[in-house]
Amino acid sequence: MPQITASDLKERIEKRLIIENGMEVANATNKDVYYALASIVNEEIIPNWFNTNQKYASKRSKQVYYLSMEFLIGRLLESNLLNYGMLHAAKEALEELGFHTENVFAEERDAALGNGGLGRLAACFLDSLASLYYPGHGFGIRYRYGLFEQRIIHGNQVELPDYWLKNPYPWETRNEEESVVIQFQGKVHMFKRNDGSLEFKYENTDKVMAVPYDIPVVGYKNNVVNTLRLWSAEPIPGTENERMEENQAFYHDLDHQHSIEQISGFLYPDDSSYEGKELRLKQQYFLVSSSIQNILKKFKKSYHLPLSKLPEKVVIQINDTHPSLAIPEMMRILMDDERMEWDAAWKVTTNVFAYTNHTTLSEALETWPEEMIKDLLPRIYMIIEEINERFCQSIWFDHEELRDEIPELAIISYGRVHMARLAIVSSFSVNGVARIHTEILKKKEMKDFYSLFPNKFNNKTNGITHRRWLLQVNPKLAEVVSDVIGSQWIKRPKQLISLLKYSNDKALLEQFDQVKHENKKLLANYIHQQTGILIDDQSIFDVQIKRLHEYKRQLLNIFHVIYLYNELKENPNQDMTPRTFIFGAKAAPSYYLAKEVIKLINTVASIVNYDTSIQGKLKVIFLENYNVSLAERIIPAADISEQISTASKEASGTGNMKMMMNGALTLGTLDGANIEIRDLVGDDNIFIFGLTADEVLEYYQNGGYNARDIYHTDDRVKRILDQLNQGAFGVHDIEFKDIFYNILYHNDPYFVLKDFEPYLETHELVERAYRDRLTWMNMSVTNIAYSGKFSSDQTIREYASDIWKIKQV
Ligand SMILES: *Cc1c(COP(=O)(O)O)cnc(C)c1O
Repeated sequence: MPQITASDLKERIEKRLIIENGMEVANATNKDVYYALASIVNEEIIPNWFNTNQKYASKRSKQVYYLSMEFLIGRLLESNLLNYGMLHAAKEALEELGFHTENVFAEERDAALGNGGLGRLAACFLDSLASLYYPGHGFGIRYRYGLFEQRIIHGNQVELPDYWLKNPYPWETRNEEESVVIQFQGKVHMFKRNDGSLEFKYENTDKVMAVPYDIPVVGYKNNVVNTLRLWSAEPIPGTENERMEENQAFYHDLDHQHSIEQISGFLYPDDSSYEGKELRLKQQYFLVSSSIQNILKKFKKSYHLPLSKLPEKVVIQINDTHPSLAIPEMMRILMDDERMEWDAAWKVTTNVFAYTNHTTLSEALETWPEEMIKDLLPRIYMIIEEINERFCQSIWFDHEELRDEIPELAIISYGRVHMARLAIVSSFSVNGVARIHTEILKKKEMKDFYSLFPNKFNNKTNGITHRRWLLQVNPKLAEVVSDVIGSQWIKRPKQLISLLKYSNDKALLEQFDQVKHENKKLLANYIHQQTGILIDDQSIFDVQIKRLHEYKRQLLNIFHVIYLYNELKENPNQDMTPRTFIFGAKAAPSYYLAKEVIKLINTVASIVNYDTSIQGKLKVIFLENYNVSLAERIIPAADISEQISTASKEASGTGNMKMMMNGALTLGTLDGANIEIRDLVGDDNIFIFGLTADEVLEYYQNGGYNARDIYHTDDRVKRILDQLNQGAFGVHDIEFKDIFYNILYHNDPYFVLKDFEPYLETHELVERAYRDRLTWMNMSVTNIAYSGKFSSDQTIREYASDIWKIKQV
């Protein structure tokens, strides 16, 4: 990798501005400089991209393809500079040219092609694949509108469209020559060939062109550049004109064109649960059909092997069930286009696909109406039916003990197609995303499938790329760490563990403390600039940032804030370390209760933040439009990481890992990866409270919980709920009645009241611990030291060796 100096870069930026824009630096805007720098980065990485592809082709390496409806990549300029080894020089060059680096980077719109953890995981995985020299690529959709932009107006969430492609996106390359055709609807005709085999022909299908846009995925200082290929839906050229000649109405054509473009129009903004919309089904098939066609074409072109050898060279990971139609699509192509017999095609298919489960929430387990699939994808439906038939027969004949369970196991059951069942039956690997999650899958949610296929099930705890989430977002911390233990941890994140040796070194702990404080000051400035609210940078920054969902229990958090406020009103002089509660969260637009919680947080904030009687001891900040870039600002400044989901509900969480890596202490339940964090750092370095997953599951199964008992016996709880009911927090007296009713009349389905008291008590421990700076910093450094375990590099190594069987090239 060539060493590029700041002065080289400076010159190149100046030159670019003249050639491309005909302007001097003095007249250039941040945006001009952003584009100039991005094109220089492209110039540097494109030869590596070409070489990487050449190398994979010449070595005939086995490749992994990561299929995902979501890639939450955020901004790329800074991370590409970092990974290419030019970040330092670029920062220097920009400052010398008179620009603020941060403002130049901020010109890039976040690529928010995902909802939350699942999409961010996909982005971290691509970074680790490239950085570890693995031949692995992503396939997704190039949505013209990403996740909605959130504004808070009078406390309410308002959604605006995220037209992120308004300005040209410098990282994508359109590769029209690799377009493929996708077919929807139509009729399927069956013929017998002379040799007796069956032939399927499709008639009157709706054809759509899938055009790939490629984004380079730059490995960390290793010259590897892999590919994220995003498909865009377009009309097939020429057909619009032909239709015109056929004298069809002009407006019909416009409508038709519009309906095609809708397929890659927008990302569905539902996190964890999905509406059964036909358009979403179309999107799913669009992604998988284009990707599978592409994968097979490439295999045939570069490997010169029979298709029966496909599993030796290709493995496809499907990120949740959303891309699971890839399975019948693979069968369709192998049989209908490649003339394989069922059994041969099935053997190939079931050795190519691996499936990652992300949830046990029943509302999020994806199913589709049988009729919808039949109508939209008639040939795919026939194949699913056949897979189902063979699977049910195998249970009937080979597993008599499960005969009664067939309706609960069948892929097609009671008029619905169950995508997780399709994925489990057809994949060679099924993995959960944290130890407890995988155990719940095996013991409860997918118990019968586990008994049928015990060897398929395995755990791969999620991870995050430490390059973005430590090195990039927290350069000061990274520098102190490298000063202490050397910089090998950047390539080998587990070496962060060497920090333990210094976790009692007073001078050093003070240095870490200072870094945290500087980061807090930066965030306080940003908050002031965004909201006009001044916060105390000596206060405890208590952070909960994640999608808004009942199971994540932002409600429990705000109840605690209301409790503190009530206490302070009664006794304004009580001795208390000042706290700043920071929230960031988007709610699915149709998720009423989640939106009520956003409104409650903002309403509480509007009272607490302006009440001078509490002497600034409490501040509540809701930062609007939570996304990757906002996470990058908040995380380095967090003291407390709130991970308070109802135990058993959060599959893994990755926000917990990001904050741990930046020295925040987790205040959480024994859920998802919190458990693995606790096991590493020990009970003394984490704040754990609340029901366990077993207790929660036991309540769900056998009852025994009564929220009203708590309401009637705990005055603190009664007071808060009555405040919601009687309008103490609203302009109108009805404002938060629905939250009140949900807790008392639906018996508090996520155990907010049950965990309230232990949560309060644990917060008191937090407050006391924070007063002892050295002990606190010792805990903080201990967390950083163990966080290397959660680098996605580790996760990817495990996927590569246990599931994918791929080698570093
Ligand atoms: C990491 C991340 C998430 C996932 O957060 P959890 O706390 O694990 O739910 C969601 N959104 C963004 C923008 C993230 O960066």
